[in-house]
Amino acid sequence: MLVLGIETSCDETGIALFDTERGLLSHTLYSQIAMHSEYGGVVPELASRDHIRRVLPLIRQALHSARCELRDINAIAYTQGPGLAGALLVGASIGAAMSFALNIPALGIHHLEGHLLSPLLSTPAPRFPFIALLVSGGHTQLMQVDAVGHYKLLGETVDDAAGEAFDKTAKLLGLGYPGGAALSQLARQGRPGKFKLPRPMLNSGDLNFSFSGLKTAVLTVINKQEITDQIRADIALAFQEAVVDVLTEKSLAALAQTGLKQLVVAGGVGANEQLRRNLSGKAAAKSATVFYPELEFCTDNGAMIAFAGALRLQAMPEAARQPAHSFTVNARWNLEMLETPEAD
Ligand code: ATP
Ligand code: MG
Ligand code: FE
Repeated sequence: MLVLGIETSCDETGIALFDTERGLLSHTLYSQIAMHSEYGGVVPELASRDHIRRVLPLIRQALHSARCELRDINAIAYTQGPGLAGALLVGASIGAAMSFALNIPALGIHHLEGHLLSPLLSTPAPRFPFIALLVSGGHTQLMQVDAVGHYKLLGETVDDAAGEAFDKTAKLLGLGYPGGAALSQLARQGRPGKFKLPRPMLNSGDLNFSFSGLKTAVLTVINKQEITDQIRADIALAFQEAVVDVLTEKSLAALAQTGLKQLVVAGGVGANEQLRRNLSGKAAAKSATVFYPELEFCTDNGAMIAFAGALRLQAMPEAARQPAHSFTVNARWNLEMLETPEAD
């Protein structure tokens, strides 16, 4: 079964072709980051319009590099939510229209389910059940992933997402948007121990996070001294260490609490080198393994949507796989509310 995946939930247009026998055949991505960086954040209306411009050329490109034709596609999976409503509508409407025109099934996919299953696209792949630390621009969650459709939220941020905290702190340090990567680059020149920042909720006794206070603590430090390049680097390092410490400790606590031995890191913050070093070292000491999918599967992409769609379609009874006659998007959508594919 050849599945076309369409991702348009935020500022990336991602298209992919996943074949249940042959694996991932191709995937294409267009990131709107350059366009939004001028405004210091994603502008929803600009995002939707740009998805409209990119989606068809990217589908053609994905088909071309997979050496496939439209008629080879057996099903369509598009991101149904959560995300920006206007942006989601672009992918959902093109997915539904193609499904109707080609008379093939279409399925709306939960964006976070895509992220949670994306590690299975990489080798070595984790095996069910595993713990997923999802650390992106919009989410910071620890989930227990037992099987497709079986997700248990163990903890999440009560305010800012980790990526959001990186971006806001980067802005305070005069770095561009999104600033996570630039901040971690700057932190390399930082001197350890120059500033001590709080570890929010480290001892809260649960698996929740809080990052908004950390950004305020950074602001207080900035306001207290003369800012040189060296001091900026020192602050960047202190901030990064604080975030990494909390993410690491809570991830290890999730492993201990569930007795599981595999941790998967998904989302853009998973690119952070200090986080990777720290997590891998501390997990190994507890004989646990950490999986880092390739970065192109960590951040938003079409492959994870095509893949999640393929797994769900395979688990569905034949009669339930139907062409779309209508579609909806869910800008907000709780992952735990998802139906499990084998539910009857
Ligand atoms: P969501 O999936 O929650 O809707 P998103 O798609 O915006 O959010 P991603 O694309 O997965 O999130 O990740 C982007 C985030 O990752 C940004 O906040 C960015 O600053 C952060 N990021 C990227 N590289 C690094 C790094 N090396 N260190 C820290 N943060 C990073
Ligand atoms: Mg993004
Ligand atoms: Fe995402």
